[in-house]
Amino acid sequence: MDLEVDIITTPKGFHCNLCNTNVPNKPSLDEHVKGRKHRTLSTVRATRRAQEERSVFVSGFPKDASQAQLTQYFQQFGPVAEVIIDKDKGVYAIVQFSEVDSQLTALSQLVHDMGGMRLRVKPREKKGFKLVDKKNTGVKNQEEFLERLKPALGQAETVNEQMQCVVERLQLAENKRKARELLVQLIQEVFTEFFPESQVLPFGSSVNTFGIHSCDLDLFLDLENTKTFQARAKTSTEPVAETSSDDGRSEDSILSDIDLSTASPAELLELVATILRKCVPGVHKVQAVTSARLPVVKFHYRALDLHGDISINNRLAVRNTRFLQLCSGLDARLRPLVYTIRYWARQKELAGNVGGPGPLLNNYALTLLVIFFLQNTDPPVLPTVDQLKHMACEEEECVIEGWDCTFPSQPIAVPPSKNQQDLCKCLGSSGLLAAFFSFYATFDFAGNVISLREGRALPVTSFLSQARKVPQEEEEKNAMEEEQPRKPHNQQAPKLGSLNVLDPFELSHNVAGNLSERSQHSFQRECQEAEKYCRSLQYLRKSTKGKPWGLVRLFAPHGQGPKKLDGSVEMSISIPFKPALLPEVLRNQLQLAGDGFRLIWFQKVCAAMVQVFQNVLKCRLGSFTESAPSGDAGHAAVAPGSCESMETSSEELNTSSDSGIAGPGSPQSAAAAAAGSKRRLSSSEDGDASSSPQDKKPRLGSGPKPGTPCWTWTQTHAVWAGRRKVRRELIKDAADTRPEGSNMALEVQVTDHIVEKEPPVKVPLVFKVQAKLVGNTQSTKVLLKVHPPSEGKEHFRDFFHFLEVFLPKMVDTLMEKGV
Ligand code: ATP
Ligand code: MG
Repeated sequence: MDLEVDIITTPKGFHCNLCNTNVPNKPSLDEHVKGRKHRTLSTVRATRRAQEERSVFVSGFPKDASQAQLTQYFQQFGPVAEVIIDKDKGVYAIVQFSEVDSQLTALSQLVHDMGGMRLRVKPREKKGFKLVDKKNTGVKNQEEFLERLKPALGQAETVNEQMQCVVERLQLAENKRKARELLVQLIQEVFTEFFPESQVLPFGSSVNTFGIHSCDLDLFLDLENTKTFQARAKTSTEPVAETSSDDGRSEDSILSDIDLSTASPAELLELVATILRKCVPGVHKVQAVTSARLPVVKFHYRALDLHGDISINNRLAVRNTRFLQLCSGLDARLRPLVYTIRYWARQKELAGNVGGPGPLLNNYALTLLVIFFLQNTDPPVLPTVDQLKHMACEEEECVIEGWDCTFPSQPIAVPPSKNQQDLCKCLGSSGLLAAFFSFYATFDFAGNVISLREGRALPVTSFLSQARKVPQEEEEKNAMEEEQPRKPHNQQAPKLGSLNVLDPFELSHNVAGNLSERSQHSFQRECQEAEKYCRSLQYLRKSTKGKPWGLVRLFAPHGQGPKKLDGSVEMSISIPFKPALLPEVLRNQLQLAGDGFRLIWFQKVCAAMVQVFQNVLKCRLGSFTESAPSGDAGHAAVAPGSCESMETSSEELNTSSDSGIAGPGSPQSAAAAAAGSKRRLSSSEDGDASSSPQDKKPRLGSGPKPGTPCWTWTQTHAVWAGRRKVRRELIKDAADTRPEGSNMALEVQVTDHIVEKEPPVKVPLVFKVQAKLVGNTQSTKVLLKVHPPSEGKEHFRDFFHFLEVFLPKMVDTLMEKGV
């Protein structure tokens, strides 16, 4: 019964309302329902319901009434299991009986008199049970905020005014800023007692001019001077108090217990946590998080309802905060743009800490994306970091941990921009907000690394031979060893991912390295949607009929915005370019190929995909055809029965001359690669790309184009159904948690097992897969268009949902292993 209410069918499979989870097909649904999460939540719900049926809601008692008094009174109706009085106001209580009958008896009595007090007794409200996650709570607050923002935005006359209004409504109010300053002072005073000459420095959004009222308070506890103080005290024969200090405070200083020069960051943080917990009034929920990339002590300050972090190794963050402050002072358009884009990104669930740390863009990375865009307008609104360096004077030179962090301290040192563009459309220009969306709507994230230092996109190929994988354990280890000297710069390489934004100062750090392919994809898709909307009249003109216009529609929460024109679900699977996963040999090969790297990679992916269909999933290859690149004469190479008649989606690569996909594109080459042949790749592989791609912007489109290979496959068994269970049985060892698609031999075994044990499907599924290379004006990826069979469509839908997840993972595994 519950199951009927809990599970709903969706275009992509099923959704479990209870667990707030999507599953792609019936077998996965069966597994989900039998799984631990679903069973636990069902049990919790059943217990809650039973409690509700045994409870009454009571009001009308005096504020000082106690649990014991209420228990005593209600015991006349039957044994009382629990009495809960609301803590804040003390005006109502839930009385829970041990038996349902007692509740009925209590409710049937018309008048309740407790020591002369007339009580009101009602059935307890039955609340629908749903998994409450932090994310949903955040979303609710956001919705409420938007509801309050809407009337103010509606009153504005232009989008410019709306953007100013967003700043006013969101920014950290002056009194709140002052209150934060006082808290920092308080913390400073306490820490000075324990760590003489230490400094507590705020950084991040509280002080970078982009803070909002709910932003956290990021603090850096600088112990450099304290270390010197301690070292001096140790070497001195004089008593410490006389050597340095005016008040003799070091006598009982904590410094006698800990040696700052040898203590590990974890030890120091534990100490910081203890001091915060014990000595700073009003601070609670203190917790040292030592396993993060940047270890911190988290705390909450009750009076301001403020969450804060203290780190001890974050000098670079203090400096990059100064950089953001400078940029803000350089051009008045930056703040409204950043506030608007941060809010838009939050609404679309692309950035911010809505659901706790997730694979979302953080606000720092998003702000850097805005600055990078402004460095690339014509003329530029903001200078590059290299240009800023040259505008600084000698006293402003600054090197932190070996990174050059020099820039002028005051905006006055920087000539104003010649760019006069408005934030919103005027006099024929699209306006900076719309231009931001169109800039990133077509940006090739996979093919480029964003450098604010140089103010341009650097081709990813120039990082390939240095790229390295950073497994979790190594990251944690690095975090713990933060104090150790860093490697020389030229040995460090950014962790490449689906979106690469180099920190402006720590050049080996990709600030968006945490982002998943999916989040990057959502970011780009939302930019495309926003760009389209910014061209519409609803964006540009205030509605005379009071309808939402301008930013109001732009801020529509994720999933509530305008739908795609064509609501049909297309069967396509995307395999993104993930350079960091590739083996070194291949990375070097791609680097040598320069602009032609995409084609080589495409051929490898096609070959891996064929392996997955043929060897892992035991599909039978019917035919293989390949249409010639659209730019080539005559489509001559199209074989009979090809997929040329397949429609092409708007997302697919336009292989016209500006596609940017260079390299050997003969149909035969992709076919040979797909069939696993060792056919020699042509010119670009031979080192045609001898010039360094780092010296110039990525070249846009030249050379031959790839064809469009198409395979016809036949699947005779439901190899997708019950795979997880079979895998578990085959692995046996409970400690072995290899995820699906991470081991070829195991997956082959799983398929063999299913083929052997299960009967074949009634109608063999004959389907086509067409591969297209996408890149340059979009993120580099292989887009597989799947053409369903004419018979057995229902069955095939399950297979497709399985492929959507399994195929990219398996291809990644094979590519990674260099198979
Ligand atoms: P908010 O707290 O409103 O989300 P924020 O800018 O304070 O925004 P945090 O995640 O709290 O963002 O980070 C605080 C500061 O730490 C940033 O402003 C930046 O100076 C630094 N920082 C954050 N993330 C990174 C990163 N990935 N690389 C380098 N510095 C970072
Ligand atoms: Mg912050």
